Amino acid sequence: MPANSTTSKPVVNPSSTDPVFDLIHQEEIRQSDGLELIPSENYVSADVLKAMGSVLTNKYSEGYPGKRYYGGNENVDQIETFAIERAKQLFHADHANVQPHSGANANEAVYFAWCQPGDTILAMSLPAGGHLTHGSPVTRSAKIYHFVGYGVTPEGDIDYDELERLAREHQPKIILVGYSAFMKIPDFARVAKIAAAIPDCMLMADMAHVAGLIAGGVHPNPLDFGFHVMTTTTHKTLRGPRGGLIVSRGKVSNPLHKVPHTLEKLPTLIDRAVFPGTQGGPLDHVIAAKAVAFGEDLQPAFQTYAQQIVANAKALAAELQNLGFTLQGGGTDNHLILVNVKDSFGIDGKTYETALDKVGLTLNANALPTDKGGAFRPSGVRLGTPAMTTRGLGLPEMKIIAGWMKRVLDLCVKAGSEDQLDQYAAELETIRAEVRTLARQFPIPGIPQPTE
Ligand SMILES: *Cc1c(COP(=O)(O)O)cnc(C)c1O
Repeated sequence: MPANSTTSKPVVNPSSTDPVFDLIHQEEIRQSDGLELIPSENYVSADVLKAMGSVLTNKYSEGYPGKRYYGGNENVDQIETFAIERAKQLFHADHANVQPHSGANANEAVYFAWCQPGDTILAMSLPAGGHLTHGSPVTRSAKIYHFVGYGVTPEGDIDYDELERLAREHQPKIILVGYSAFMKIPDFARVAKIAAAIPDCMLMADMAHVAGLIAGGVHPNPLDFGFHVMTTTTHKTLRGPRGGLIVSRGKVSNPLHKVPHTLEKLPTLIDRAVFPGTQGGPLDHVIAAKAVAFGEDLQPAFQTYAQQIVANAKALAAELQNLGFTLQGGGTDNHLILVNVKDSFGIDGKTYETALDKVGLTLNANALPTDKGGAFRPSGVRLGTPAMTTRGLGLPEMKIIAGWMKRVLDLCVKAGSEDQLDQYAAELETIRAEVRTLARQFPIPGIPQPTE
């Protein structure tokens, strides 16, 4: 434990003696003193935190603005309307539902809106980079719908030929483009063309990871290419509170599509699928925080942020390659990097994740598309730049981080396995101190900095 972590006073509600507040304070120190490389995490602004911690959590508002099942919603109605209008503006959408409690809930609501039990959904398979909610057998959705998975090519792009073949063969009700570990820009137009040949096929994009890049203008928007619906989380690159969002084009359906009439009902079907279909009362404090975050995302500064996320990711990827790391897909076009540590250095992703954790660099072990290591000993680690970019780290720091990653990797190679890492505790502690010193030069937004 760093010597200075015990000397600073709890900054959250210091009058409370509940140990939970001390733990929140410890978490503030952990976040401040480490560097967050997990690509799905970010730091929200003080304003977003303020909205989340407000009295709006006291309110019940089942329903939608102007159509509630409870009284006293005059303020909540206006807040939710702000969130909806800003989300529509961000993504050039005709309709937005800001109530999903999470990305998983948003996806489930869209499936529920458009499919009957047993209907087929064609989505990227989990090993290829897709998400658990896209048909993993451990999910509720997979028990209700029939998921078929498409994969990626050896170069790391979507296997569009396979996607087309599977679409023809299975006649899916939804073709879903979305992922949590994919480093290329999807060819949305090509997928829209494939879907146009399938009757009643709805095009869905799950942009949970890259929505902030879309909002920031550095990534194409699937709704501009004939996609009907886009789901996303609001806490990843969008830099808002934890939650989900569904945006759709109601009036303008896929011009190539055979069934515009039914698709025009999509916004209504989606609203009903969120509430009462799959959720109860909305989280009004979180919706307020979404409104605030979307307001921030609409500012020119957010475009600069999105550009810097990608520039940082490309710089980090290039430096890692210089240092001998093999990258899945040969690099990145977005904020994500998937490193194959097994092939490059004979170390599994979990061992590397554990060692990096000890120096204050947080990321996650991740399976590669053709992984033999399984979910618990995968061959890769996944990292990304959205959180570091929020803190203001730039190109020089990316080189420094890659250098630390190589030093930690060399220690892993020397140790040979996770349980032998303790032999190198002193070396790891040296790197830990360097990470902390740099991290403290880039305060995280929204909280008082830990004091010495
Ligand atoms: C993170 C993620 C989700 C799930 O979001 P939660 O808020 O954790 O439920 C869904 N889809 C994709 C592609 C994701 O990356």
